[in-house]
Amino acid sequence: MRTQRQVVDYSLRKRAVLRELLAGRVGTYDVCDASPYLKNAARFHGEPTDERCPICRSENLIHVHYIYGDELKQSAGQARTLAELPVLAMTLREFEVFVVEVCLGCDWNHLVEQYLLGRDGLAEGGSETDAVGGDASGPVHRRREAQR
Ligand SMILES: [Zn+2]
Repeated sequence: MRTQRQVVDYSLRKRAVLRELLAGRVGTYDVCDASPYLKNAARFHGEPTDERCPICRSENLIHVHYIYGDELKQSAGQARTLAELPVLAMTLREFEVFVVEVCLGCDWNHLVEQYLLGRDGLAEGGSETDAVGGDASGPVHRRREAQR
């Protein structure tokens, strides 16, 4: 996505969890604990992937996108489909996205990555000041012309 920035990748942490599991230092009950809310979000707003679940290997993982940010108001903390994100990114200045992978077979779940989206990402390189200047002078000019 065009305005995606400040991406944090959690694949190393995931690999560490899987290593702990293989070594028997944590049990599957500790890591396969997806809540009913998370599973519902996966069913209704989730993005299917081609990746097999690393635990049960019988289901493909589903990615759930949670959105957070002051501008979202009551929508903060809700799950959204991947298709909805570019639309929000053009409407809002900044919001945070947390991507969680879920297996509906064994309840495995883990944070995949987090990143920022929103119009503020388009301003990088100083183009925002130009856009603001244009917007400010535009309407004033038009109003003067209309009065004549
Ligand atoms: Zn699974």
